Amino acid sequence: MADYEEKNQQDDAVKEGLEKEPAIRYDFREVREEEKNTAGDVDPSNKPELDDRNAEPERADQDPDESVAAKKDGEMAETDTEADDSESEADNGDDGEDEYENVCFVCRRPERVTGRQFKLPNHLCVCNDCMHKTMDMVSQFDYQGMLDPSMQDQTRGLGLDELTKKFPNINFVNLADLKGNGGIPNKQKLKKKKKKQDEPLLDIKNIPPPHKIKAQLDDYVVGQEYAKKVISVAVYNHYKRVATATMDEIEIEKSNMLMIGPTGCGKTYLVKTLARLLDVPLAIADATSLTEAGYIGDDIESVLSKLLAAADNDVEKAQMGIVFVDEIDKIARKKETTSRDVSGESVQQGMLKLLEGADVEVPVGAGSKNAMVPMTTINTRNILFICGGAFPDLDEIIKQRLRKTTSMGYGAELKDVFDDDKDLMSKVTTEDLRKFGMIPEFLGRLPIVYALKPLDREMYIRILKEPKNAILKQYQKLLELDEVQLIFDDSAIEAIADKAMERETGARALRAIIEDFMLDIMYEIPKDQEIGRVTITGDYINQKGGPVIEIRK
Ligand code: ADP
Repeated sequence: MADYEEKNQQDDAVKEGLEKEPAIRYDFREVREEEKNTAGDVDPSNKPELDDRNAEPERADQDPDESVAAKKDGEMAETDTEADDSESEADNGDDGEDEYENVCFVCRRPERVTGRQFKLPNHLCVCNDCMHKTMDMVSQFDYQGMLDPSMQDQTRGLGLDELTKKFPNINFVNLADLKGNGGIPNKQKLKKKKKKQDEPLLDIKNIPPPHKIKAQLDDYVVGQEYAKKVISVAVYNHYKRVATATMDEIEIEKSNMLMIGPTGCGKTYLVKTLARLLDVPLAIADATSLTEAGYIGDDIESVLSKLLAAADNDVEKAQMGIVFVDEIDKIARKKETTSRDVSGESVQQGMLKLLEGADVEVPVGAGSKNAMVPMTTINTRNILFICGGAFPDLDEIIKQRLRKTTSMGYGAELKDVFDDDKDLMSKVTTEDLRKFGMIPEFLGRLPIVYALKPLDREMYIRILKEPKNAILKQYQKLLELDEVQLIFDDSAIEAIADKAMERETGARALRAIIEDFMLDIMYEIPKDQEIGRVTITGDYINQKGGPVIEIRK
């Protein structure tokens, strides 16, 4: 940044002498440096104009090729000051512009890889290599006598149309026409430097002990005590490992996790809350859409692209992020299939290297690789992978295993003793998961396996009331802004919980039910300024009566 400022100051000094707006602006830095050295200080009074004819005779004796190049250089040297100046204005005006790395418009490599790039109008950047290739190509071109000095006299000052008529076989490009393409959009560029950010609640560089992490989770996630405990310890170990970065003889393994739990019991919510508290980027991917590379569907690397996007294209930040792969049970090995299992076992195979830690080439700002998308490398060694899935029918496999161990000898139990066991999933072992269709290498890279509990009535009630951003609190806050007090009495809360249980879609059902009956309230209440308090009752939820409305005193 320091040399950018210095450059801008120099540019300002040069710009003082420039009055005329040039038609073409180049940012030919190297040439400019040269020009500065030879031209010395710029004197406004004898500053050459853009189509400077005075300079021409001096160069007339030069080789035609050289003279054109020199002329162009001269133009570039003059005009780059303007381009730089407009750039510095952009910098001042819009900070966001400067945060992204430039990407070569031709080969799509970022400035970090190519070295400094030439800046053309309309935010187009071209790297040194591509610029030279273009120049080489141009120098081998048959110019139809264009470079002849007499021809130069004839063509000087002609517009594009006239030039095109004069040289019908040559296509002249007006750079201003590229406007609208505007170079490469920011979402496809990498971030250059870090923005100053708010302090996160939990600092991953100085990670708090597990009980503090759990205490923060408790504010948002109801119940699931065991899961919260496991995740707190795993995250603590993971970020401690990342922070110390001492990988000597005792290499600490990654704490990737596998979370098992029925739909709507808070798997995604738990991970989302955790990522928010730690202020690390989070990518949520759906394993159902993943396929082996080359097949229809998302490549496995696309999850890292999502992570990079979540980290605002900041590679360093992305490498400390969390990836949550939901519906992981959908990539179980397909049974009884003779064709290639591109969305099952192959995806598990493909994920192995990501889980373990590898350098992966990912497209920036796009879901898939193609020639037009810039690429970057992400190392997954410090990325925490959490997989989650409902694993239907896994309970049958667990039951079978448990029956086998208990149905022999005197200790034999009745066969259906496990049928009402609500906590059956917590007895899961990797052996059961292997039977389910997960490959051993995959399971080996997810050393922490735990189950979340299915929600019961009491949990639904607590989810409605307790979390910091509980859904009832959200509605109360909304009406509070209209100075109306909203009360849910106990019968109402119980009725909502009962309805949610019937739907069997987990806590997601709560919001759907509440949105349903709150629609009328949210529509009607703001109509009447007199209303001061609304009480929602069980009868209203069960459509046996209306809400109790009290007038402002
Ligand atoms: P899934 O387990 O299918 O990933 P989610 O985590 O998406 O389910 O849960 C859906 C919604 O239910 C969440 O957005 C959250 O509001 C609510 N929810 C689920 N479980 C809990 C919980 N234990 N505590 C608080 N809210 C929860």
